[in-house]
Amino acid sequence: MVATSVRVDTISSIDPATGRVLGSFEKTSPLTVPELMAKARAAQSHWANLATNERRGRIRELQRQILIACEGLADAVVRESGKPRTEAIFADIFVALDTAGYFAKNGTDSMRPERVAHHNIAAKAKSGTIYYEPLGVLGIISSWNYPLAIPLSQIIAAVAVGNAVLCKTSDVTPECGVLIEKLVRHAGFPNDLITVLQGGGEIGQALIEAHPDKIFFTGSVETGRKIAEACARQLIPSVLELGGKDAMLVLRDANLEVASSAAVWGSFTNCGQVCLSVERLFVEQAVADEFIRRCVEKTQKLRIGPGSDPATDLGPLIRPQHVQRMVELVGEAVQGGARVVCGGRARPELGPNFFEPTILTGVNKSMRLFQDETFGPIMAIEIVKDADEAVRQANDTEFSLSASVWTGDTSQGKSIARRLRAGTVMVNDLISAFAIAEAPHGGSGLSGWGRTHGKAGIAEMVSVKYVDVDCLPGLSKPWWFRYGAELQNAADAFLKFEFGGSVASRARNARAALKMMFRNHGF
Ligand code: NAD
Repeated sequence: MVATSVRVDTISSIDPATGRVLGSFEKTSPLTVPELMAKARAAQSHWANLATNERRGRIRELQRQILIACEGLADAVVRESGKPRTEAIFADIFVALDTAGYFAKNGTDSMRPERVAHHNIAAKAKSGTIYYEPLGVLGIISSWNYPLAIPLSQIIAAVAVGNAVLCKTSDVTPECGVLIEKLVRHAGFPNDLITVLQGGGEIGQALIEAHPDKIFFTGSVETGRKIAEACARQLIPSVLELGGKDAMLVLRDANLEVASSAAVWGSFTNCGQVCLSVERLFVEQAVADEFIRRCVEKTQKLRIGPGSDPATDLGPLIRPQHVQRMVELVGEAVQGGARVVCGGRARPELGPNFFEPTILTGVNKSMRLFQDETFGPIMAIEIVKDADEAVRQANDTEFSLSASVWTGDTSQGKSIARRLRAGTVMVNDLISAFAIAEAPHGGSGLSGWGRTHGKAGIAEMVSVKYVDVDCLPGLSKPWWFRYGAELQNAADAFLKFEFGGSVASRARNARAALKMMFRNHGF
């Protein structure tokens, strides 16, 4: 007898600090995705009909499970994404826990039906109600850089409003995908309601081909285009959370001590691999020297190392090609006239993916550093004449995700925020709005479309149904057949009565208009 073995495809989990393979995880076969979709549909119809309290209870249990497992979860995030453990706790675990708290309450509350008051007399005899219903099965495709916060916050919101989910976690962070699956199981969600798919682009495409009711994609512009095309072919709606080129505007009255610390953190947290990181910094000439001096001083004190070392401020980039990209971006900018005032080099003696936190001045729109998403530890500064020029330059990009304004005058900050083209603008803070569950997150242009988080995020995950109940069911409607001159005249009178403006004109036409309501249809 010849023994046959079924080949199981696997994905490697790689430690970005060392380049070592940590383990391998089973890939989902694209052939199984249609069956997983069918199972999710069946689970969803049961889930959507549960009492809201039961759904709420499950989400609270998931929150409890995240808290119980938080040590192990943080370790896995550090192992696979390379970020310092403190960041794994603040940015991944905190966001997941807080989202669960928010959606356990607001997810179900926001599904309450709404009575609609009709303004037009023609619709007064009708009672209208808007119902919010789950969309069905949502497909989530996630990036690696917040491997728990992003997929978990979208999964939690989706199921809170009665959907099922097939979530393809990133092939860069397969262990985190397995841990999400485990959390869901331990929280006692029904089988097949939330399924994690493991693999790369081919599984993402298989997920879209299985025709979910909507796709929530988080990732690069390049992949975002492919997702949008694949969704368009099947007329599946999508939310695209893509890259950013966020501007930080430092005005002359800013607190430079605070603003420089913010710039350093906003540029280098998660080694700059953040959609909301500071990618273009515009500082007013009057305070530029002092601001840059402080940024350099603080950056030189940052400690580079593996995320598992508690003393580390800055971990590695995710893969060697990203280090190479930083080298090229810096080289090109210097050739174009920019100046490296701090860092600027790869650090191979520390590991394959380390790059120094880098500050460049004299950067401008002609350089790739100001055009494409950098997604690395480079602070690129342009000195501007005044606040107006800062706003003009900040808006001169095809991205539109978020921005921040730094000023001692809050009302000026707010008014500049209104002039900036971005989905979120923070005044005297940056990035942290992502962790505010109520704050809608998303952008436009190359940064994508649609929103996650908050009420706007919930609105993306439900369908809106309007139910109209006629309160005069014994009457045929005046606008139904048969037509004739009499109806035409009455319709004329009705327009003048409804929209005629003056009291006299309305009164003159009231009788004819009313007659129309109770006309004989001539059948
Ligand atoms: P990526 O585009 O390489 O991958 C994202 C996901 O898409 C992964 O799960 C990947 O496997 C999958 N994928 C790749 N090709 C696919 C295809 N052809 N069809 C279907 N799925 C496919 O992005 P990444 O490197 O994981 O993440 C970094 C990017 O994500 C950055 O541009 C960053 O700005 C962006 N991002 C945006 C947000 C946001 O909220 N706007 C948040 C985090 C990251």
